[in-house]
Amino acid sequence: MKRILVTGAFGQIGSELVIKLREEYGKDHVLATDIRTSNGEAVDSGPFEILDVTNGEKMLETAKNFKADTIIHLAAMLSAVAETKPLLAWHLNMGGLINALETARELNLKLFVPSSIGAFGPSTPKSKTPQTTVQRPETMYGINKVSGELLCDYYFKKYQVDTRGVRFPGLISYAAPPGGGTTDYAVEIYYEAVQKGTYTSFIKKGTYLDMMYMPDALQAIIHLMEADPERLKHRNAYNITAMSIGPEHIAEEIKKHIPDFSIQYKPDPIRQKIAESWPNSLDDACARAEWGFKTEYDLPKMTADMLDKIKAQLGRSPS
Ligand code: NAD
Repeated sequence: MKRILVTGAFGQIGSELVIKLREEYGKDHVLATDIRTSNGEAVDSGPFEILDVTNGEKMLETAKNFKADTIIHLAAMLSAVAETKPLLAWHLNMGGLINALETARELNLKLFVPSSIGAFGPSTPKSKTPQTTVQRPETMYGINKVSGELLCDYYFKKYQVDTRGVRFPGLISYAAPPGGGTTDYAVEIYYEAVQKGTYTSFIKKGTYLDMMYMPDALQAIIHLMEADPERLKHRNAYNITAMSIGPEHIAEEIKKHIPDFSIQYKPDPIRQKIAESWPNSLDDACARAEWGFKTEYDLPKMTADMLDKIKAQLGRSPS
């Protein structure tokens, strides 16, 4: 990667990824684009343009003018919001993706497209979910993600577009708020622990889901995009994970830092149903074997860092 265009750059992933890419590839070599502006470092630290990904002509023109060699396509509607606006989700998630694929085909660009644990469904094996297995999701988001994986395979096989992707688990971070996904509770819990000392989880105790801390997710994107293409047998999309946990496990870990912290459970029917249709734990052996995927953060290390960073953000003294 030398000149990288990022779509949806001010969301939970993009607002940290843009900064990391600029550190590694040069600040003028990373163009941040989004349908809206933001007042964070991702805007101030380098070039930025408004780009609605449903406008294919504008995407092509923007990539051409920037002389991009890579697109990292992050603009999307996430699982819980997509369930309330399924037609809009289809329009954004599939329309934006086909425009990114066509731009990559016309200009011969590399393309990163994130899939998700949401690409699996209730009939998928729940534990150690294999790389290649049943994918019959019942949410609009999941249907978009499976269709996206297949479309990326299609463009690679038919047009040799260098498409690559991972199935992200729930991502935990403190720099930008999550965008309406089912795993957002795993971010909220840390903020409320620091601010209120208590949290009411919209996901039930005992609901296991895969999770990952943002620094590991950013590293995974860069590793995969720089990997030797000859080794990529499952390019769209690799299972990756760092931990398989329920809300009670995060709560127990938080208590080690904030002993009076308490958790209650008031499940939200829509998000609980989505969570129960997703795997408990993914098997990420293919990612490890084919491009050396690895993680640095487990639950204790992530929790210590999250609490310190949130306290600093809110002007509280560290533990
Ligand atoms: P987010 O919701 O935080 O950010 C999405 C960004 O897209 C926002 O900044 C939004 O303004 C922008 N956007 C919306 N409509 C747009 C349009 N028409 N044109 C251009 N930009 C538009 O999402 P995120 O968490 O950063 O996720 C990025 C990608 O990673 C998505 O494909 C998502 O499905 C995938 N993913 C995320 C997670 C997670 O836990 N965050 C997990 C699995 C997969």
